[in-house]
Amino acid sequence: MAWLDELSAGDIAAGVAAGDFSAVEVTQASLSAIDARDGEIAALIESCPELALDYARRIDERKAQGQELGCLAGVPVSFKDNMQLIGTHTTCASRMLEGYESVYTATCVQRMLDAGAIPVAKANMDEFAFGSSTETSAFHPTRNPWDTERVPGGSSGGSAVSVAAGEVTLSLGSDTGGSIRQPASFCGVVGLKPSYGAVSRYGVVAFGSSLDQVGPLGRSVSDVVLAMQALTQAGRDRLDSTSQDCQSDFCGTLNQGVAGGRVGVMRELIEAEGLSDEVRDGLKRSIATFESAGAEIVDVELEHLTSAIAAYYVIGPAEAFSNLARFDGVRYGYQEPDCETLAEQTAKSRAHGFGIEAKRRQMLGAYLLASGVYDKYYYPAQKLRTLITDDYNKAYERCDVILLPVAPTCAWKLGEITNARQMYLSDMFTISNNIAGNCGISVPVGLGSASGMPLAAQLQGPAFGDATLLRYAHALESEVGALGVAPAFFGKGGEL
Ligand code: GLN
Repeated sequence: MAWLDELSAGDIAAGVAAGDFSAVEVTQASLSAIDARDGEIAALIESCPELALDYARRIDERKAQGQELGCLAGVPVSFKDNMQLIGTHTTCASRMLEGYESVYTATCVQRMLDAGAIPVAKANMDEFAFGSSTETSAFHPTRNPWDTERVPGGSSGGSAVSVAAGEVTLSLGSDTGGSIRQPASFCGVVGLKPSYGAVSRYGVVAFGSSLDQVGPLGRSVSDVVLAMQALTQAGRDRLDSTSQDCQSDFCGTLNQGVAGGRVGVMRELIEAEGLSDEVRDGLKRSIATFESAGAEIVDVELEHLTSAIAAYYVIGPAEAFSNLARFDGVRYGYQEPDCETLAEQTAKSRAHGFGIEAKRRQMLGAYLLASGVYDKYYYPAQKLRTLITDDYNKAYERCDVILLPVAPTCAWKLGEITNARQMYLSDMFTISNNIAGNCGISVPVGLGSASGMPLAAQLQGPAFGDATLLRYAHALESEVGALGVAPAFFGKGGEL
């Protein structure tokens, strides 16, 4: 029988529906892949075999009763550990939430389950999603399956690695400034940040509430599309007041091609010095691919793009500080014992519970929101936000999507970047998209000739242009080809 590594989400759902294999068999293959592979890459914080098999048996029962199965029937999925799922812990990879049992199930998770997905694991991440390498997890770093000496990117590093190493077929991550797209690019998988509001945030531990967005990671664009279908088909979620109706026939429009369409590029950015030659070559190949598929390449300008990082490191920490104030040593999370006063309890609980990066962000946020300081930074950052959004709106009058790098380089070595500012700068091409609330996707475009590591192109689209964005991503992938499971992990355990 086939290996789970070679099956797409669509293949699995079709195979389960046709009775070629059962959801339980698929789940066992995924669990055995986790057993065989996770020791080396540490993608997961928790796997939940009993819960997974329970869900799988329910799918098989539905099948036996002749009931209709969802579009993700039997598909093994991991969830970033900032998403609540009853029967698992939700730790945000932080000592602050170690042992915290999920008290309800996030809407995004529930919708995947409603479509028949099997929850097999919770994925590692940077603590509270602060980071770009998954090294700030309080529990352990995660390793890149293409080269285990390298980082997987972050903050949804565990999600990207669990998919790239074939432990699961799909994962959900969250993206506040690039945390789905950047690890997807480092690990050779597809990662979609949907438009702000397209996917409910209810039940996802908040970082920056005006920037956070949940989205899928998979080994192909069509797998990501199936997940998007599952996440959006029930319409807006009344439990998240910012969520909107984003139903679309994502699958139906996917194969329509890009002939006659327009792809925006910023030439000077592609030639910029900070980009590695490999990343630049990947982008040039992508441009040529779009041209040969019949799309027109047009020059666009995003005047304030380089200021996006400054705006983000004001808005992001300010929102994070407000959101993380709830971890006060009383109501949520770690509680320091034997304290004499409430102030002492709060101070000691927070000092123990948060790692260095989480502290840095919150201290920055507290400062930025202080009276007298607020006007100097927070206000201008909001004005910049409007300018960046206007730049995009103008650019999208001239094109359907914009082609950009995801990150300036491929994955770097574990421990290589220790300077916080340098780490922040690695997100310079992804952040503006969150600031504007638009959609973006990372698509693998082959392996670097020097590094041997996955390279990616980023496509960005206007708010609620997700279906069009996916169509362009699919056209690119059809030409360059998906990378599949990282070779060192392919076929290792996980037999059906
Ligand atoms: N790397 C960025 C940061 O550290 C983005 C994180 C994210 O998208 N969650 O803020």
